[in-house]
Amino acid sequence: MGSVTTQPLFSFGVIADVQYADIPDGRSFLGTPRYYRNSILVLQKAVQAWNQHGNLKFVINMGDIVDGFCPKDQSLSATKKLVDEFEKFQGPVYHMIGNHCLYNLPRRELLPLLNIPSRDDDYNAYYDFSPTPEYRVVVLDGYDISAVGWPEDHPKTLAALKILDEKNPNSEKNSPEGLVGVERRFVKYNGGVGEKQLEWLDGVLKDATESNQRVIVCGHVPMSPGCASSAALLWNFDEVMSVIHKYDVVKVCLSGHDHKGGYFVDSRGVHHRSLEAALECPPVWEAGKDIVRITWMLKSSAKVNDDAAFKTVEVKLCYAPISQVDRPWRKTHNELSRDRSCPHKIVSKPYDKIPQSLNWTVDRETPTGTYFIRAYGTDVNGYEVAYGQSSDAEKTTNLFSVEGISGRHTSLDIASICFSVFSFGSLLVFLVKEKRKAKLQQRK
Ligand code: ZN
Repeated sequence: MGSVTTQPLFSFGVIADVQYADIPDGRSFLGTPRYYRNSILVLQKAVQAWNQHGNLKFVINMGDIVDGFCPKDQSLSATKKLVDEFEKFQGPVYHMIGNHCLYNLPRRELLPLLNIPSRDDDYNAYYDFSPTPEYRVVVLDGYDISAVGWPEDHPKTLAALKILDEKNPNSEKNSPEGLVGVERRFVKYNGGVGEKQLEWLDGVLKDATESNQRVIVCGHVPMSPGCASSAALLWNFDEVMSVIHKYDVVKVCLSGHDHKGGYFVDSRGVHHRSLEAALECPPVWEAGKDIVRITWMLKSSAKVNDDAAFKTVEVKLCYAPISQVDRPWRKTHNELSRDRSCPHKIVSKPYDKIPQSLNWTVDRETPTGTYFIRAYGTDVNGYEVAYGQSSDAEKTTNLFSVEGISGRHTSLDIASICFSVFSFGSLLVFLVKEKRKAKLQQRK
């Protein structure tokens, strides 16, 4: 006990699913926001934090460096740009390939770019390294057997297509529809570990056992149903795990690909951690520095004259519920005049039927917190008669963070301007209109 056990043997940095693309924000199939342009800023911040730590042995990128939606004429330049960001880490960086990498570039281009040692002249992407004499890190190639990334007539493509045909009756092989439980993993965006790689893994683990080393196994695709969705699992996770369980040296399995993150300890005590996607980290805007583009318009389903009372539109920055906890002075109130959740005025403009936009530099005084943006339609007397907001009714989606000046580490300052675009899908015509009238009559 004492200082000997409290000091880690070594530390390392990890990041997963950066999935950068120079395209507007979007959503996953399940509706989770994806911030394609922001993800490179997330990576830059990670690299700065790693360098600031000062004592990391290495950094490992868990795959999917660029997104499949990246325009194909930019695949190469975008991948290079991301690799260059990783290179700013003052130490060794290890990469692995994910399905999104393979949507962009063939293996023969990817492997040299990502410094992945190719074996057997066939662009296999599995390898291992030893950060310290006591430890070994294994990087698996989860798209060894895959319908993505190999030439169309390659035996591995054919083997993958055969598996998909047998296991997935959908004509769209990226869909797990109708598949139950872990059978949902038989989709085209997952893959498997081939026979030869399994033998190699067995050999590495045997060698590690003999050398009294412990092992960290990394792979883009998760290896345990306990830490990820069934639809994001390695096709033959069971085979891989039985090789791992044959030896007692693997302590942890790390993965990406599932995006939401998960943690599980299996029956043999192996820790499984699938990492959250950098792509899905909401933008952090820096007070006094970042410029945000805000667009608002009347809800498309609004009827003629719904906006008849609108004289002015007031756009405000509002605290999300998470930033209101234990702060009664930020409380939301349904009666808008008593609502304290939106104290920061962004702009007040005469109402116009056509969509309006504005570039707003996040105010220097904005406190650190999580926010959304709301636009109020006010009438000729200055009463708020309607509002629309950039988040859903529960104020849980499409939020963003602001890093206030006071809480900011100067060393984390990044000399770049974040240009976030989002629009109000609607300027809701709200019941408050009627409520307000009722209230005024009562007062008379
Ligand atoms: Zn992936």
